[in-house]
Amino acid sequence: MAESWSIKALDTGTSQVEASVLTYLRRCGEVVTIPRVMWVLEGPTTIVVDTSVNPNGNPHEFMGESFERTREQLPENALKAAGVSVKDVEMVILTHLHWDHAGNCDLFPDARVVVQEAELRYAIAPNRFFRRGYLSPESGWKLPPPFVVPNLSTVRGEVELAPGVSVVPTPGHTPGSQAVVVRTADGPFCITGDAMMTYDNLRWDTPPGYHVDVEASMDSLDLMQRRAPRLLPSHDYTVFKERPVTLIASR
Ligand SMILES: [Zn+2]
Repeated sequence: MAESWSIKALDTGTSQVEASVLTYLRRCGEVVTIPRVMWVLEGPTTIVVDTSVNPNGNPHEFMGESFERTREQLPENALKAAGVSVKDVEMVILTHLHWDHAGNCDLFPDARVVVQEAELRYAIAPNRFFRRGYLSPESGWKLPPPFVVPNLSTVRGEVELAPGVSVVPTPGHTPGSQAVVVRTADGPFCITGDAMMTYDNLRWDTPPGYHVDVEASMDSLDLMQRRAPRLLPSHDYTVFKERPVTLIASR
């Protein structure tokens, strides 16, 4: 029997951003409210995809963004609400290493934390425009980048990390972004990271507004749609039916 997984979305905080951050050169000047999402996959083991914003040092203020989080939206509490103890988590997959996706790796000291090698290489020494988003050295951030944990491990290219859970490189937003394709009882789903921030990216055939390579961003949108009929974007409240936890697909 092929292994399959459930997918839960966890709402771990809220920001207001200018809408063209999500959709390149569209809705400039409009403000939208977005979630900071963590995903939990439960199958033969427990996997977390992305780790949201770390509370230490207020990185949102460093980035000049609003950010609000209730007690129940703290990652450890949202995980509890999803019925998951951090001890159960054997693997953490990071779609990329931006501050709002890789902030709480230190919650999972016993898990294998997996990122694309190209992303780790870039995040340590990005172009100066992109340093702040990674909280990287030379960005002015006073703490170590939160993705630097001893249990971080890299993969290169497309890899099946567990039966029914694969990562696929989706460059564009960042050089080493990856999406996660998950087999569920309801068919395959693709967790996109910031390769797709909102369903408007598909609706308007428009890449996210933040990227190192626009053409690669468009290719990655195409690739993800070939891999799964249903995509789960990183910053779209319509993925939630209930908060802080929504069961998206069952095992
Ligand atoms: Zn990002």
